[in-house]
Amino acid sequence: MSEKVKAKAKPKAKPKSVLKDGMDISLASQMIQLGARLQVLEAETDLSSDRLSRLYHEIHHRSPPKGMLPYSTDWFMSFYQNIHATLFYSIYFNLVSHTETQGVQAVIDAYTLYLEHDEVKRAWDEQSNEPVLSFTRAWMLVRFFKSDLMQMSTCSQCNTAFVTHKHELENGFVCVMCKPPARIVGMLNKQATTSYYGKF
Ligand SMILES: [Zn+2]
Repeated sequence: MSEKVKAKAKPKAKPKSVLKDGMDISLASQMIQLGARLQVLEAETDLSSDRLSRLYHEIHHRSPPKGMLPYSTDWFMSFYQNIHATLFYSIYFNLVSHTETQGVQAVIDAYTLYLEHDEVKRAWDEQSNEPVLSFTRAWMLVRFFKSDLMQMSTCSQCNTAFVTHKHELENGFVCVMCKPPARIVGMLNKQATTSYYGKF
């Protein structure tokens, strides 16, 4: 297929691959549907911000949200955020380790799987109409791992790997599930144990 396209393409001053363009539009559409910010789309495709804005408008019937990308790594360390980040990253890591899916497509596929989890559906923030971990945050998280700012650390109590800052001491690390913050413990004490897992 790509050979056919190549053969037909006439070398002009500035050749632009129709196939690449189509793939970029498909990729951008998938990310827009998952709620990606414009900056993410610009980083992952060769499409102009004008075309991306139009695409966003066609899909969501509104302009894309403006503002900076969330650069904080600390955000992923809070209780719910850490559990959701860990869930997403575990899916992502499994995909890139055991399947052919790589790059941003792996982020898209992992995020789609993340959204299908019951815990994620239950924790959906109705006010912001967003899951705990937005697509843009998930995409940033993968970037943080790639730039060596974050890692997976194994909890010394439950033996499960959780998202942590890089250089978290592996010896004696205790995860947020084994040692939840006091406010969460107080909240959980008021609830029946059966609903414990329904809260994140
Ligand atoms: Zn633990």
